[in-house]
Amino acid sequence: MRLTELLKTDQVTISCELFPPKQGAQLENYKKTVADMAALKPAYMSVTYGATGGTSDYTVELAKEVEKHQIPALAHLTCASSTKEKVASVIEELKANKIENILALRGDIPENADFPLPNQYRHASELIADIKAQGDFCIGGACYPEGHPEADTIFQDLDHLKEKVDAGCEFLTTQMFFDNHILYNFMYKALTKGIDVPVVAGIMPVTNKAQIKRIVSLSGNMVPPRFLAIVDRFGENPAAMRQAGIAYATDQIIDLIANGVNHVHIYTMNKPDIAGEILDNLSEIYVRG
Ligand code: FAD
Repeated sequence: MRLTELLKTDQVTISCELFPPKQGAQLENYKKTVADMAALKPAYMSVTYGATGGTSDYTVELAKEVEKHQIPALAHLTCASSTKEKVASVIEELKANKIENILALRGDIPENADFPLPNQYRHASELIADIKAQGDFCIGGACYPEGHPEADTIFQDLDHLKEKVDAGCEFLTTQMFFDNHILYNFMYKALTKGIDVPVVAGIMPVTNKAQIKRIVSLSGNMVPPRFLAIVDRFGENPAAMRQAGIAYATDQIIDLIANGVNHVHIYTMNKPDIAGEILDNLSEIYVRG
């Protein structure tokens, strides 16, 4: 199923995220994670591609596994570390396996690399245009409510975001954010630039103290005082931190839905137990399946 069929309706959708294994030997364990996550009946499941030092080798394999559970898969595809030929071969593999949905990303530019080489894409918008030319895919892209770290201003970033939409990006998934007002402001600004495709709000349940430090150093996310107080108070107590992190993410999702943001993506990080607890908290708000 093309995800825009879901995302263009007012129906609430909650999706989950998986990352693939680093080694083929781990694939069977990861298939069990897919099954556990699928049992929660998310609207769709996305599978990352080489994110945060992980691999890109098993993204298609895991996306195929998701679809065996009759759940649409969204396969991520990045290009900054690949040649155009490599990207074209992954597109062919997705096509051969009837995976219709791709989240097209530039990826982070590898350190100390000459970028871009002549056979590389410079921006996600170029990748999006080529995916569109190479097959009948439903293509999504990333957006950054606080601005992408490389952009000088949010408005400059929004101009580039508009280029992605014009190139064929049919929906957007946001970087995580911890204060919903940041998303509401972003959506307003995006609309003024004519960006009117569905926006899926990315929510990260932060359930341990180390995670928040990593997130801030990687993405430069703003962490509101209300959340910092939780980390200060419960950071050294893993069970309490987990419970508070799940409650905080649940609260963010309820506020989003109450304010008409109907599509939420949970950065579940291969943790079906955490996704399950959040969905249980929303049992009367989000009707699964
Ligand atoms: P782009 O859209 O190309 O933007 C990158 C920067 O370039 C921005 O600052 C933008 O303003 C600027 N720019 C764009 N076009 C132009 C132009 N024409 N001229 C000048 N500047 C321009 N990473 C992974 O490795 N694997 C994943 O699976 C993955 N999944 C992600 C999922 C989501 C929802 C998000 C939000 C991020 C994900 N990332 C992933 C991280 C992402 O790859 C990085 O944030 C990367 O730095 C930017 O990718 P992009 O597709 O947003 O790039």
